[in-house]
Amino acid sequence: MSSGICSRCSRIIQPGDLFYSLLIKVSSGFDGVINIKDEKYDISEEFEKVKSYPEELINEEVYREFQYVLCPRCKEIYCANPLNLPLGGSEPE
Ligand SMILES: [Zn+2]
Repeated sequence: MSSGICSRCSRIIQPGDLFYSLLIKVSSGFDGVINIKDEKYDISEEFEKVKSYPEELINEEVYREFQYVLCPRCKEIYCANPLNLPLGGSEPE
């Protein structure tokens, strides 16, 4: 497995250095419910419409994957707050 540079801080990761591989997979959730507002909803018609979209666009809607390399420091920072949420309560004023 090749290392390279940290995706976050661009630090060069030397061969043998500790580094972390970060793989983020984002896929659309499906709870089994299909909302059909239009009674004349024709699933085959919708399907035809979808088929005419560029395939890449559909795939991006449904599934995305990101892969990063992190140095140990950036891994700690990332893991402390993966979604980059605002830190509640202790905002500096
Ligand atoms: Zn880093």
